[in-house]
Amino acid sequence: MRIDLHAHTTASDGTTEPRALVAEAVTAGLDVVAITDHDTTAGWAAATEAEAALAAPRPLSLVRGMEWSCVARAEPAGTEKDGRVSVHLLCYLFDPDDPAILAETARLRGERGRRLRVMAERMAADGLPVDADELFSDTEQVPGRPHLARVLVDHGVAESMQAAFAGPLSKDSPYYERKRDTPVEDAVRAVTAAGGVTVIAHPRARSRGALMDMAQIVELAESGLAGVEADHLDHDADDRAYLRDLATGAGLVVTGSSDFHGGNKTVRLGAELTAPDQYAALVERAFGVDVVGGGSAAAQATTSGEGA
Ligand code: AMP
Ligand code: ZN
Ligand code: FE
Ligand code: FE
Repeated sequence: MRIDLHAHTTASDGTTEPRALVAEAVTAGLDVVAITDHDTTAGWAAATEAEAALAAPRPLSLVRGMEWSCVARAEPAGTEKDGRVSVHLLCYLFDPDDPAILAETARLRGERGRRLRVMAERMAADGLPVDADELFSDTEQVPGRPHLARVLVDHGVAESMQAAFAGPLSKDSPYYERKRDTPVEDAVRAVTAAGGVTVIAHPRARSRGALMDMAQIVELAESGLAGVEADHLDHDADDRAYLRDLATGAGLVVTGSSDFHGGNKTVRLGAELTAPDQYAALVERAFGVDVVGGGSAAAQATTSGEGA
């Protein structure tokens, strides 16, 4: 059973259309794929249509999700000025029409645009060949730093996306502008109330900056958090083992996912996977919207809650 619970599309900062994500997931031999764009559910409809149009017997189940931009408490030993760090919350199978979620994600999308424009204008003022308007030519997309990274690579300012993130786009860069994200405890509560389940994305991805306080994960488990993403390319073997221990102690599910971004990252769909029993435990808790499609994993998840 091949289950990948974290993938981006052109609805945010991926390069694969939502429809094409479904096709690529089939090609990659996945039984389950989750669409998890940043702060939007705009890709859900097209992905759902594409899944429904697959030839019978439809081999793939689609989990509708989102990656919510949040802030959390920083590690006690950290050096963050205000003790707050950015954290990503994977949210699955919630009611997309929930008014609280609609309002807050709309605010976040505006905040992403504001923040990226500030960074682009700082670069332009410094003589870099960056045109803020060029960044916002595709208004369908929720803007993210990968869009700005792409411009820097295309104009020869950075050699690669990786180099752009390590240099001008890094948190230590003079161009960097923070965005005002949602307190993670509020997002967990909102998604849980809307029938969804939540998983902290890549909680130990140190390359992205200071980590959140692991004690807060245990606290969040008490207020509805369902899981932690352990198997992610940004985690080494120690990080993964650490998170498995933490999950066992806190009664959390562990997931594994590619965090696919199409051509904006080198990782391939299905590069990291979630165990069927962990997937089943997530699906069992959710009641906002259904898993789309009759793939065998979904059937298994709703009947036995077991998997191999
Ligand atoms: P933002 O949400 O605008 O702060 O941008 C963060 C996004 O950039 C996340 O989706 C990351 O997956 C992506 N990202 C972070 N580091 C890199 C990198 N080195 N190469 C490509 N994408 C990255
Ligand atoms: Zn992204
Ligand atoms: Fe993320
Ligand atoms: Fe992601």
